[in-house]
Amino acid sequence: MEASKSRLLHRSLREAPPKAVGGDGVWLIAEDGRRILDASGGAAVSCLGHQHPRVLEAITRQASKLAFAHTGFFSSEPAEALAEALVGDEPGGLAYAYLVSGGSEAIEASIKLARQYFAESGQPQRHRFIARRQSYHGNTLGALAAGGNAWRREPYAPLLSAAFSHVTPAFAYHEKRDSESETDFVTRLAAELEAEFQRLGPDTVAAFIAEPVVGATAGCVPAPEGYFRAVREICNRHGALLILDEVMCGMGRTGTRHAWEQEGVAPDIQAIAKGLGGGYQPIGAMLAGGRIIDAIRQGSGAFQHGHTYLAHPLACAAALEVQRVIDDEHLLDRIQDLGRQLERRLTERFGNHRHVGDIRGRGLFQAIELVADRASRTPFDPALKLHQRIKAAALEGGLACYPSGGTLDGRSGDHVLLAPPYIATSDDIDMIVDRLGHAVDLALKSVGH
Ligand code: PMP
Repeated sequence: MEASKSRLLHRSLREAPPKAVGGDGVWLIAEDGRRILDASGGAAVSCLGHQHPRVLEAITRQASKLAFAHTGFFSSEPAEALAEALVGDEPGGLAYAYLVSGGSEAIEASIKLARQYFAESGQPQRHRFIARRQSYHGNTLGALAAGGNAWRREPYAPLLSAAFSHVTPAFAYHEKRDSESETDFVTRLAAELEAEFQRLGPDTVAAFIAEPVVGATAGCVPAPEGYFRAVREICNRHGALLILDEVMCGMGRTGTRHAWEQEGVAPDIQAIAKGLGGGYQPIGAMLAGGRIIDAIRQGSGAFQHGHTYLAHPLACAAALEVQRVIDDEHLLDRIQDLGRQLERRLTERFGNHRHVGDIRGRGLFQAIELVADRASRTPFDPALKLHQRIKAAALEGGLACYPSGGTLDGRSGDHVLLAPPYIATSDDIDMIVDRLGHAVDLALKSVGH
């Protein structure tokens, strides 16, 4: 399809993407009838694959009863049930769910809740946030300011808020010095965060925001052991909140429902989206600690925020069913098994590849990073747009994966993120790695390697 004939404003204004017209489990079906193995669910969205009959049924059932009721007037059955399913057992002290339409909205709500909490607890001066360079927390202007991803920020600079500052990410492959142990690296990052609190004035900081496993901007980067415990301790000591963005890495993706369970810390506020609704409906959520909500209950008595489509009944019904399928089919165990297989197969295929510098991730959230030179970890020239070549070669070969360019001021390279559906089979995992290997080699060949 020619972009010039499409009235739909696509990201690229030169070229429209092919149309997807159907789905079938791990497969996407393109307009020309080709079946494409969906190895990334877009950006880690389609956790149950496509057209899951139970989720479709749940949406239809809810639609036939009540499609919409404004939260300014009513609550709804699916919204109450979803909140109960998410925080009924108060994981890590998270006791309330605020249901929005996606990840950026969940982050905006998190930032505003943190601000309102301090405003109503006698600390209105706490209006600053610390996040990490290269991070991505969404594309609305507040979330964009929280993120530290230079190329996403640049076109909109100066951003609306000066409240956000950024520290070094826990990205061992690029940020850990060769002379440092992992523990030394964590100690250095913790010292930098402490120094940033001191520079800003510790009692002006509302929260530190980070993804437990970094998704889109760096490609499935888990933090080194002990990092989040150190971060938690610093936030506690200064009375600041910890906001964890699990929009991409949460809801089972890394093998536990929340990625923070593997870090031994819990956040005060958490954002989730993508795998929450599995793409069946647009939905995200902010999960909030009981003490935060209690403070506001005793203060103004209302969270001063809202959108028309909060807790949309169809979205809640879909998300509830996605979570029930994950529980009923014991998919967390499956994610761990398949994740080990994916990691092993990636290591077999790319471990000795001269242009793959790093293989990393957790569970069904794994990435490879491409480098021009392994020894010096030098990325390919961004002008080659290697990630776009890999994406095109993969699609041509019947694979949808999620390649992106480097983000750390030119130091990190192109990477390919994989986030297969939790319902994938062992054969699907093998096929993903085979097809990816082929696409990477074809793309490298096209730039003379
Ligand atoms: N945070 C993270 C970590 C994300 O990966 C994304 C989306 N890629 C967002 C926030 C924003 O979510 P959405 O696109 O649903 O607004």
